[in-house]
Amino acid sequence: MSPDVLVVGGGIGGLANALALTRTGLQVRLLERAAEFGEVGAGLQIAPNCTRILESWGLLDRVLELGVRPEALVMRDALDGSLLTRLDLADARSRYGSPYVVIHRSDLHATLLDACRDAGVDLVTGVQVSGYEPLDDGAAVLHEAGRETAPVVLAADGLTSLARGLLSDDEPVSSAYVAYRGAIPAEQVASMDVSMSEVVVYVGPHCHFVQYPLRRGEVFNQVAVFRSSKALAGREDWGTPDELDAAFAGTCAQVRAGLPLMWRDRRWRMFDREPLDTWVRGRLALTGDAAHPPLQYLAQGAVMAMEDAWVLATHVGDQVAAGTLDWDAALAAYEAVRTGHCRRVQTTARAWGELWHLTGADRLWRNEVLRARDVHDYAFVDWLYGPTALTPDQEPPMFTPIPRGTAVPSRGKLAG
Ligand SMILES: Cc1cc2nc3c(=O)[nH]c(=O)nc-3n(C[C@H](O)[C@H](O)[C@H](O)COP(=O)(O)OP(=O)(O)OC[C@H]3O[C@@H](n4cnc5c(N)ncnc54)[C@H](O)[C@@H]3O)c2cc1C
Repeated sequence: MSPDVLVVGGGIGGLANALALTRTGLQVRLLERAAEFGEVGAGLQIAPNCTRILESWGLLDRVLELGVRPEALVMRDALDGSLLTRLDLADARSRYGSPYVVIHRSDLHATLLDACRDAGVDLVTGVQVSGYEPLDDGAAVLHEAGRETAPVVLAADGLTSLARGLLSDDEPVSSAYVAYRGAIPAEQVASMDVSMSEVVVYVGPHCHFVQYPLRRGEVFNQVAVFRSSKALAGREDWGTPDELDAAFAGTCAQVRAGLPLMWRDRRWRMFDREPLDTWVRGRLALTGDAAHPPLQYLAQGAVMAMEDAWVLATHVGDQVAAGTLDWDAALAAYEAVRTGHCRRVQTTARAWGELWHLTGADRLWRNEVLRARDVHDYAFVDWLYGPTALTPDQEPPMFTPIPRGTAVPSRGKLAG
């Protein structure tokens, strides 16, 4: 049977879209180029704006079973280890009605894959899509074995999306930052000064270091990110382990203790793209990183991909239920809801990264501002964790860092 929707890409975004649309009663076929489905990497933070979606798909219990519900997001200075600010996640749960979860990427991916299988998605691996063709009443994808058509094609083919080339001639933007990751058995950090109940980020000059537990606390996840001089100089040998060690040489004891536990044989270059306002061409639509790859500082990339899936499927589902499926209207609604929000996340993530990586006097100013922040002030996450990303009519306030040189508010609010 020919499908109603073809999805290209079997990452978190492709699976989420396939699942959400299948749940509306449509036939979905998903094409993945890899020989097997899977995810490379370690931890993912899933904020309340996405856990409420996972709940609506019946997957939250499984995700909570596999993940960890941290008590707080904590920010520390990477040089002296001092506390800068924190977000109480129990409080956030009451505010947003859904928990904050950290989970191994492969566990979330497997949860979505199992749900797709159970729902009846036609899951195909080993198919590399090499081209797209717009049609009057649908779209076609081309691959080695031929040509497949459907009323709608969703391209969830990631940062280097081939489909994006039909809508824009932009390229991925390199930030010159490089990430090392490492997920290790928790026993290996048992004697170290680490928190097993929080997500901790140490922010430092051109570098940061993230730590949190995974898999019910059995695994400890670390991410070390730094600006690579070799990447800046356009060299191919960017981000080598000697650069990693040099970047963190002046950091506090807690960070330096974690560095030897990173996976040293793999590293990831940090890219994003300029925000794009057009994601739909005829019946071809972009989703996930293909549409809006962010820098990772707000931990919203995979979250946005799942929000995309929820929004499109909600519009489609309403129409299917009413017996009036109008793909052009559904895709237009999807684009109208999502592009503005995702633009905001992408640009805010860049600004947030700059704030994290300040040096010299700017770093001291940043620390003062963060220490003075009222820990019960949710202004800078309401627009992310609240439901505004899913509706077209609200214009949530944009987070803009306070201009440097601004007088710092009175200190001591952290303790209060
Ligand atoms: C260091 C780091 C930390 C992060 N932390 C978080 C976090 O805490 N929370 C969060 O929400 N996000 C986080 N992200 C972002 C998140 O990982 C991505 O936004 C998300 O995984 C994107 O999913 P995707 O499915 O859109 O794309 P991808 O995961 O890139 O999947 C694309 C899929 O398409 C397939 N494909 C590509 N081209 C073709 C083709 N031509 N034919 C067939 N198949 C094809 C690929 O093989 C792949 O399986 C982080 C990212 C980084 C780098």
